Amino acid sequence: MRTKRLAVFALIFLSSCNGNIATINIKRATATATAVSKLAPTATSRPWATPTITPSPCPTFMPTPIISIDDLSSQNYAMLPDFINDLTSIESPTRYAISVRVEFDALAQSALLEGIERIRYTNLSASALTDLVLMLWPNDPQYMAQMKAGPALVDGEIIYPEEELDGLALRLKLSRPLVPGATIDISIPFRVEAFGPIGEQSPRRFGITEGVLIAPTFYPLVPRLVDGEWQIQVAPEGGDATNSDIAYYQVKIRFSEEYLLAASGLEVDRQSNQDGTETATFVTGPMRDFAFALGPFEVFTQEAGDVLLRAWVLPEHIDSSARLLNAASNQMNIMSDLVGPYPYPELDLVDAPGAFGGIEYPGLVFIGTLGGLNVIEPTVHEVAHQWFYGLIGSDQLSNPWMDEAAAVYSEILYYENINGQGKATGMLSNLRSWVMDLPDPSMPIGRSVSEYDSANDYVMLVYFKGALFFDALRLELGDETFFKFLNMYYDHYRYGFATAADFQAIAENVCDCDLDPLFDLWVNKGGEFYGG
Ligand SMILES: [Zn+2]
Repeated sequence: MRTKRLAVFALIFLSSCNGNIATINIKRATATATAVSKLAPTATSRPWATPTITPSPCPTFMPTPIISIDDLSSQNYAMLPDFINDLTSIESPTRYAISVRVEFDALAQSALLEGIERIRYTNLSASALTDLVLMLWPNDPQYMAQMKAGPALVDGEIIYPEEELDGLALRLKLSRPLVPGATIDISIPFRVEAFGPIGEQSPRRFGITEGVLIAPTFYPLVPRLVDGEWQIQVAPEGGDATNSDIAYYQVKIRFSEEYLLAASGLEVDRQSNQDGTETATFVTGPMRDFAFALGPFEVFTQEAGDVLLRAWVLPEHIDSSARLLNAASNQMNIMSDLVGPYPYPELDLVDAPGAFGGIEYPGLVFIGTLGGLNVIEPTVHEVAHQWFYGLIGSDQLSNPWMDEAAAVYSEILYYENINGQGKATGMLSNLRSWVMDLPDPSMPIGRSVSEYDSANDYVMLVYFKGALFFDALRLELGDETFFKFLNMYYDHYRYGFATAADFQAIAENVCDCDLDPLFDLWVNKGGEFYGG
């Protein structure tokens, strides 16, 4: 078996170095050389910082061309022992094997990520697929970056993808339809240039901030297939960007040893390359995205049950680390008790000034507010997203209330359990008065991100009125039934993807009652707002 796999890779790399592709890479390398020379002062260059400037017939990102995707056993390390069997319970998840080299120059506010990705994708729909789409999310306006990828090797055949949505999506036309249940094997090189500073205004999701590179979804991502169509919407400003299904990741990152590296999943290997760089390998188990950060961090840890929390904090913010870890640890315990267990051994909390208040990714959250007074709220909100978004998937663009309102209501649950009912009631009262002050507080929470008139309306209605809806649902069901509902919701949709109708159906099943009037009033149609 091993010999056969090696033979496949030899084919990939021989094919990738043929004339056509070499021409493309030379062009790209030349373009990059111009960009890098403008941005990078020579004083900050490192021994390995220049290879992309040299035109080469072979891509420079393939020094170690072996990416194995067949070995599932290493994924076991990404799970707590009680949840290892979850790995075999998920039907044909997409597999990603990614190898990326990162050149990061914090002083010049530039970074270059070059890599190759291998994807194994199974068609779980009922129809044959004639194409496959990959999202290049760094090309979205929320990301301070530019990305190129391709051509792709698809089951041994080179395919030149077609760009759509200004490079946000790449469509690969398949030479043979991918029938239901069949699996396709794709290898594709990619390159991302990232800049800074992020923060203040958009973009705030990807790039460089105060000496830190934050790099979520830096690789070609398979979007969701919904009713036979690839979901390739542009992300509306101010909302979350990606929708994706659970997948298994194995990611190798080569980076300068002058930085610390935080990443989704669990690090299972690290090698020194004797040139000032190290290569770390991560596995994730079932996660729906992968993110990493490089920076001059100091690391603090704390345990929450069996889960190790790591805080990656800039030296100027270490005074926030105890509050950050205590809040995260308490919220990890509260969510595990009230919703369902966290199945992974680690969660990383990464200092990322200006990355909104915070941004959630599976196994890693960015916190944008360290060093200020507002540390607890973003932390407990982003940790709650590990359940509502990470474990239980929902459409972040079309039904943002399903994860955002749940995360804000999880802040209420945190205050209730840590600070007492008074603090929780006080926060609910604040939310109520803010919503009441809206010109039209009767608007429903169940619209898509782009259907709200302003960023303020979006936050007030989806986040805050949405949290009040969770409180109204709790009042309607009673405490015992409400928390049973959260458990059932977790049990049914952990590693899956729930629609608003799924959410309502679980609630109705648990209470054995008709919740249409409540969902119409709050979620679907809206109506007179009395404050819940
Ligand atoms: Zn959120």
